[in-house]
Amino acid sequence: MLTGHIRRQRRLERAKVEEAKKFRTMPVKKGDTVKVLAGKSKGRTGRVMLVYPETERVLVERVNIVKRHQRPTQRLQKGGIIEKENPLHISNVRLVCPRCGQTTAARREEVGEKRVRVCKKCDEQIDRA
Ligand SMILES: [Zn+2]
Repeated sequence: MLTGHIRRQRRLERAKVEEAKKFRTMPVKKGDTVKVLAGKSKGRTGRVMLVYPETERVLVERVNIVKRHQRPTQRLQKGGIIEKENPLHISNVRLVCPRCGQTTAARREEVGEKRVRVCKKCDEQIDRA
């Protein structure tokens, strides 16, 4: 039997973990180009439009399109089938280096006072310092 205060404590700890997930550093950022490694859109490349650290997913422009049946609402007069991107899990995408064009991982380096990402393959800066 769990007593009330232990249960409360566990709930608090879980909330803390959930909160921390929002600030998790993601391997890719908005605006990055990524290549899809698995799934229906395997092999496609696209620009990252949104990053969801909580679920470790990214929304890639024009990749992993799904058709949704939209019911007409007051706001959206027209119903029918709409196409939208479905977020991909970060483990299924790999960063494409804007300098060398290869799929790569980024290493973080300090340049002056800024921390920039550096391509592990060509050692060029991915972000502008
Ligand atoms: Zn590179």
